[in-house]
Amino acid sequence: MNTFQTDAENTLEAVAAQGLYRKRRIIASPQGVHLTADGRELINFCSNDYLGLANHPDVIRAFKNAAGQYGVGSGSAHLVCGHSAAHHALEEELAEFCGRERALLFSTGYMANLGAISALVGSGDTVIEDRLNHASLIDGGLLSGARFKRYRHADLEHLTNTLAEASGKKLIVTDGVFSMDGDLAPLPAIARLAQAQDAWLLVDDAHGLGVLGEKGGGVLEHYGLDQGDVPVLVGTLGKAFGTFGAFVAGSDALIELMIQKARTYIYTTALPPAVAEATRASLRIVRAESWRRDKLKRLTARFRQGAEQIGLELMPSPSPIQPILLGDSRKASALSEALLDAGILVGAIRPPTVPQGSARLRVTLSAAHEEAQVDRLLNELDRLKSLA
Ligand SMILES: *Cc1c(COP(=O)(O)O)cnc(C)c1O
Repeated sequence: MNTFQTDAENTLEAVAAQGLYRKRRIIASPQGVHLTADGRELINFCSNDYLGLANHPDVIRAFKNAAGQYGVGSGSAHLVCGHSAAHHALEEELAEFCGRERALLFSTGYMANLGAISALVGSGDTVIEDRLNHASLIDGGLLSGARFKRYRHADLEHLTNTLAEASGKKLIVTDGVFSMDGDLAPLPAIARLAQAQDAWLLVDDAHGLGVLGEKGGGVLEHYGLDQGDVPVLVGTLGKAFGTFGAFVAGSDALIELMIQKARTYIYTTALPPAVAEATRASLRIVRAESWRRDKLKRLTARFRQGAEQIGLELMPSPSPIQPILLGDSRKASALSEALLDAGILVGAIRPPTVPQGSARLRVTLSAAHEEAQVDRLLNELDRLKSLA
């Protein structure tokens, strides 16, 4: 047997022995609260479809109509001949929604982060990131070639000290809502610090846009911050918007710089135009239907109150991401499996996605859930908590 094959098998055995083996489930239904996974009907508490738009009839109709008008493939990158009227209209609407001069579509959030950070800083500069940032922000920082510094989660003092040691252009990078913890970055203070130290600030609001703020403007609307406070905003479209893709929003100069320099923008095929049209439809719903955000808040409060009564260890999260902290990876897997047997799908999140010793169940709520379903989850957690 060759070395690569032996190595692969040893690695897989080691991963399994640590309780960290990752497996996929095969989904045969649309995304929603009811999911058919591996042939079983489950109630879904692990999707990022926070507003219940992934399978919304208006979004589906827009997608189908646009496929009729534009076909399926975009044909090339945006800079060759793939930038359709649908993409352009969505960019203008996203810019307006976020209160920014311009927005630029990327094919995924992962690519937006790699491209944006590498376009903004390079050798001789410093990128400074929260330790719990999403993998794509960490990878973007490493890829950029800038000095790479991390500060303790949401720790302003550590950030201040780290900034003082930075050289060249300084870019502070943080999640808006932390994807595995559900808490918010202390953005007003970070923005003040950035301004005082002549640093730029990039906020990735993948989990806040559509969900937080009265109008769904995300963590920046929640805190009342604008383009002057946070010059670089990254949003993703595969979560609350229920579709696919991502964008960077900010000043005209920022967007032009991205078009000239962001390699993950330049050297990749544009999203299918029908995805852009579907997103325009979902953006209209995000803006118009604030009841979805209100309902999500009520369900979140109900879940937190119930979980506290049972004695589960929650985290300080005001968002629909509600992790139950277990610590041990095997416990997290066992509880997730037991919930599955009861017909409920909740993801077990283990290292290296989260730090060692902080494995958890990541419960996510959606505006499409009913109170009775949240209560059923709580009843099952109460019954199974001895596994925790
Ligand atoms: C999901 C996520 C991404 C990646 O977005 P995709 O469009 O799925 O590639 C980036 N940043 C954060 C914080 C995320 O949660």
